[in-house]
Amino acid sequence: MSKRLYSYKRVKYWYAYDVDDICALYAEFGLHAQTVRAWQKKGLKTIDKGNPSLVYGYDLIEYLKEHNTKNKCQTAFDEMFCFKCQDARNIFQRKISIQHKAKTLFVSGHCRDCKTVMFKTYKMDNLHELKRIFHVGGVLELYDCKASPCKTHLQAHAVTSPNESLNSDLQRDLFG
Ligand SMILES: [Zn+2]
Repeated sequence: MSKRLYSYKRVKYWYAYDVDDICALYAEFGLHAQTVRAWQKKGLKTIDKGNPSLVYGYDLIEYLKEHNTKNKCQTAFDEMFCFKCQDARNIFQRKISIQHKAKTLFVSGHCRDCKTVMFKTYKMDNLHELKRIFHVGGVLELYDCKASPCKTHLQAHAVTSPNESLNSDLQRDLFG
């Protein structure tokens, strides 16, 4: 059973999709027709019961939104979703790096099982709890924010600077 997060942003609202069209939307993830049929059994609405089953874009968007939310919620507070393991995983050595933008924390850590970098977002309010549970290796601002009153404080904690590709991966995973 796939636990991938499929971005609904590439689905056209008014378009009618058949199973192959939906697979083509997520071809790079290797989305299989069987998975789409499983979605249909689990509640993805079809236009009619006939074959090939056509799905309206807006029904697919609704389904994916719910599907993605459910999958995101499967990680406990101290776990992250590992895209390689395709499951919730603990963080290797409980070491995390934190970047923040406005009131959102972008936290990264390594999967304890396969050492792949994992990302998760937390609210600024969670910072205290994160510091209690994890070893925080670095706190960095994601973008220059001249108005930030706590900049000096945060810079004092910055020990590692994340590399560029890591950042763009983060951006893609979060907003793609
Ligand atoms: Zn893993």
